[in-house]
Amino acid sequence: MIFLKSLEEIEIMRAANRIVAETLSELRGCVRPGVSTGELDGIAGEWIAKKKAKTAFKGYTIRNGSVPFPAHICISLNNEVVHGIPSHQRIIQDGDVVSLDFGVVYDGFYGDAAVSFAVGEVDPSVQQLLKTTTAALEAGICHACVGNRLGDISAAVQGHVERNGFSVVREFVGHGVGRRLHEDPPVPNYGVRNRGVRLREGMVIAIEPMVNMGVPEVTMLEDGWTAVTKDGSLSAHFEHSVAILTDGPLVLSKM
Ligand code: MG
Repeated sequence: MIFLKSLEEIEIMRAANRIVAETLSELRGCVRPGVSTGELDGIAGEWIAKKKAKTAFKGYTIRNGSVPFPAHICISLNNEVVHGIPSHQRIIQDGDVVSLDFGVVYDGFYGDAAVSFAVGEVDPSVQQLLKTTTAALEAGICHACVGNRLGDISAAVQGHVERNGFSVVREFVGHGVGRRLHEDPPVPNYGVRNRGVRLREGMVIAIEPMVNMGVPEVTMLEDGWTAVTKDGSLSAHFEHSVAILTDGPLVLSKM
């Protein structure tokens, strides 16, 4: 069931997502060789408290009985696609591709966004992966308009990624977001134009392309959370929470 949001609710979601965007920006400034992903998680926790928000990911379970996510933020490095678990033993190195995926609850509503970037100098092909993934997200957002269908977003993301020679992960998809972190509809990063749910005013969706340099398949690590590329290739992930309004898409998680 898709929950449409009022303009007042969208304003609250904007505030939630502003906290997410500010925290991501702060964390990005802290990423350098020698910093552990556990330290970054600590900073994320401090920002949640400072902004009087609540943690969204810590304790989250995929299904009843599954391992709760143990941290405030997902930090996925290099071949890790999503849901990397921060650790004080995991030290960021020069040349790493870092993806930060963060969410909060504020005034009853979730904010959710992700960003990826390289630490120091990297090969042009890595820059191309990052540039393509962020541009694929923008392409998807452009189609998040009243009257379009969900498949228009999915096809725009997939088309941009594949034209640039990269692949789109199928196992994980974007989602509706609101009073719950994951609401209907699922928002795949692959699909066919003019198919799927008709987009209506008041829908809020998280569009989040996960793009691999090699094959699209992923495998799960034994920690029950971390998804890695099957072929060990690098992966990038960008995400924005977007409200669909009559005058066009409103990106809630932009700084
Ligand atoms: Mg998300």
